[in-house]
Amino acid sequence: MTRRVGSRRIADFGETVFATYTRLATEHKAINLGQGFPDFETPSFVLDALRASAGEHQQYPPLPGLPELLEAVSEDHARRFGRTLDPVANIQITVGATEGLFAAIQALVDPGDEVVIFEPFYDAYPADVTMAGGIPKFVPLHPQSDGLWHLDEAELRACFSPKTKLVILNTPHNPSGKLFSAEELDLIVELAERHDSLILSDEVYEHIAFGQHLPLASRPGAWARTLTISSIGKTFSVTGWKVGWVSGPAPLIQAIRMAHQWIPFTVATPLQRASAAILNEAAQPGNPYYRELKQAYLRKRDLLVTALRETPFSPLVPAGGYFVIADSRELGYRDDIELCNDLPARAGVVAIPPSAFYSREHKTLARHLVRFAYCKRDEALIEAGNRLRALAG
Ligand code: PMP
Ligand code: GLN
Repeated sequence: MTRRVGSRRIADFGETVFATYTRLATEHKAINLGQGFPDFETPSFVLDALRASAGEHQQYPPLPGLPELLEAVSEDHARRFGRTLDPVANIQITVGATEGLFAAIQALVDPGDEVVIFEPFYDAYPADVTMAGGIPKFVPLHPQSDGLWHLDEAELRACFSPKTKLVILNTPHNPSGKLFSAEELDLIVELAERHDSLILSDEVYEHIAFGQHLPLASRPGAWARTLTISSIGKTFSVTGWKVGWVSGPAPLIQAIRMAHQWIPFTVATPLQRASAAILNEAAQPGNPYYRELKQAYLRKRDLLVTALRETPFSPLVPAGGYFVIADSRELGYRDDIELCNDLPARAGVVAIPPSAFYSREHKTLARHLVRFAYCKRDEALIEAGNRLRALAG
């Protein structure tokens, strides 16, 4: 075949770092602190819910989602945010947050529209915007030695223009662990209002926050222009389920639904049913699940941060999510990719090069950084710490 096979839409895409570095971990039998997926046991009530969902109805669910899952998400919102969501008009179930992001961006962004993205970013955002023909406009989050990532008001203002259709936010933030403050969220809402832009708030780590997680849609003036994305994967340690949801005002949900119906049409029935059951169970009065999840991750964060402090890496302490960014300058590598390619063989540990979360123009900002995941067994974190400590010699 002489014709170019791939479309222009995908021409600039390489393989995602998550696929590359998990493969490296397997090849080297290294400890995988790269891709963010838990390696510990799935909670037993989650597996029970999955087993219980096996025997029942197995056909296509309704387009918005399985009614019991829509109800469970709606009740969760009412309980936590005091907002009553109509299960069908205000919620769309998606194939993980990933499809929610893709469907939302397809549904909202026209070719030539500008989309504000905080950098570093979760790598799907610019890819999704590019596939929709939109133009990403990057606004930097500046790492501080205290682990806080600073958002400069003037830089954010300068990113907006009359062409800004959408702002994509992620709090708690991957890869930095930043929790956006009330002032920052209010500024984003103010700018979105002024430019008549929409907001897409990716809150998949909403239950893994060590300070206060503030949902953007609850800020004054935000609801009417905001879509919020979450998913079952991080909260219940089942990243392979790929069940997510988007919530927001009816016209925005209707727009997403029109895209979603041509992407997967619907989401796996048994997984939706099991997701409803676990959301309902975790919400039972007196169930310590969410509190214990947060405590467990706080402990894992501290375990990894403390271990890294005894290695050549200087960790920035994250306020949420399950990743630590560290400074690797002391090791003297040319850049983060050289380091992360060498680490599996040299130390038996896999990490992610954060340049994957920066635009082509800004990749050098990540040259001296590395991302480690701590959603791993304590023994894996301890052993990784021991191996990385040996690099000091
Ligand atoms: N957004 C962020 C910030 C993430 O870290 C992830 C994790 N993969 C996703 C979205 C995708 O979530 P899901 O696995 O539910 O598609
Ligand atoms: N969200 C996870 C991470 O950031 C994994 C994402 C993926 O594998 N696509 O590591």
